[in-house]
Amino acid sequence: MRLLVLGASLGGLRTAQAVRRAGLDAEVTLVGAEAVLPYDRPPLSKDFLRGARQASDLALASQDELDELGVSLRLGRTATALDSVRQVVDLDDGSALEYDALVIATGSRPRTLPGGHVPTDLHTLRTIDDATALRDRLARSSSLAVIGGGFIGSEIASTARGLDIDVTIVEPAGTLMLRALGETIGQHMTHLHLRENVDIKAGVSVERVTDTGGRQLIELSDGATILADTTVVGIGAIPNIDWLQGSGLTLSDGVLCGPDLRAVGTTNVFGIGDVARWLHPRYDRYIRVEHWTSVAEQARVVAANLAGQPTVADALPYVWSDQLGSRLQIAGVVPVDPMVEYAVGQPGTDRFVALLSDASGPQAVVGRGAVRDFLAHRAELG
Ligand code: NAP
Repeated sequence: MRLLVLGASLGGLRTAQAVRRAGLDAEVTLVGAEAVLPYDRPPLSKDFLRGARQASDLALASQDELDELGVSLRLGRTATALDSVRQVVDLDDGSALEYDALVIATGSRPRTLPGGHVPTDLHTLRTIDDATALRDRLARSSSLAVIGGGFIGSEIASTARGLDIDVTIVEPAGTLMLRALGETIGQHMTHLHLRENVDIKAGVSVERVTDTGGRQLIELSDGATILADTTVVGIGAIPNIDWLQGSGLTLSDGVLCGPDLRAVGTTNVFGIGDVARWLHPRYDRYIRVEHWTSVAEQARVVAANLAGQPTVADALPYVWSDQLGSRLQIAGVVPVDPMVEYAVGQPGTDRFVALLSDASGPQAVVGRGAVRDFLAHRAELG
């Protein structure tokens, strides 16, 4: 079997490893847009950014380990088109790769600020090159503006405060991490950031960003302005599916996949990681998660299905975020406008565990600095 894996980050690597673990005798080719061996992204906004870890510390696999896996690597190459009938993928170097089975693990890229005059030196954070550029810039900065108060924004703000840099976050919602946590816990995290002297402009949006003498002037919808030495934009991620237009796959903010991660309408194309929107058996609806932790399960599911053992991806979603010296953990899918019950702590405390429910009962557990209690409540979610 010729197995073609597109995307040489966590998803692609875990697929290759899972395929070998499942004993599949496949010829595996791994294609990656970045010209570097697979590396771990979570430290980029934290230990790497503050200089505590270097690029060499982030490797997920060495060349020797990849050789042992028998993987043929095509790094620095991007897939430009898929013909799912002829079973061929075109690459940007003009070559074409035929496959018997295809795994799409092409990930996502940062959303950029819409329209207007946007300076070229705004930072985003996705790759090790992005993180290196931001780290170098922060070394020369005493103020940082962060546009977007989600995972990236909150983590970078926390790291920058640790470097004694003045930080302002602009977030159009009323709290940090509203979508990930709901309003009550979003407020809780906002309070903890305010306590660390992160300035938070919530409920306002960015009207314009301009360069002024090597700094950025950010004009806000309430008329206020921010002047910053460095500005980072962390306003969400867009799945890398543009190249799949016309491929015959169903695209809907991701590659639409069944519970077994097969792309809808195909038998031999799978989606995993940020790019996959799959029918999650637990929720009976299509979801797309950008969690590091989902990928290992998804790779196992793909490998099992390729080996002829029908398997679905039904694990409870789980994500963590290290901020302000403690670990925030989220299990399940947080409902829109959840009811919140604190099992440990209360609004404003450093340590807490909260159950987030909708009308049909608890749907998610969120904890901070209380791992054992968090795990106990997560187990109750089943
Ligand atoms: P995110 O967590 O979705 O947060 C984006 C935030 O920006 C949201 O609060 C969003 O508000 C806000 N926003 C949207 N448009 C905006 C605008 N024009 N101006 C200001 N704010 C705006 O995405 P992210 O923080 O950019 O993270 C990107 C990727 O990195 C994701 O895949 C994420 O999972 C991953 N990541 C994960 C971790 C972790 O798991 N610990 C850490 C870092 C990064 P609305 O929600 O209201 O749109």
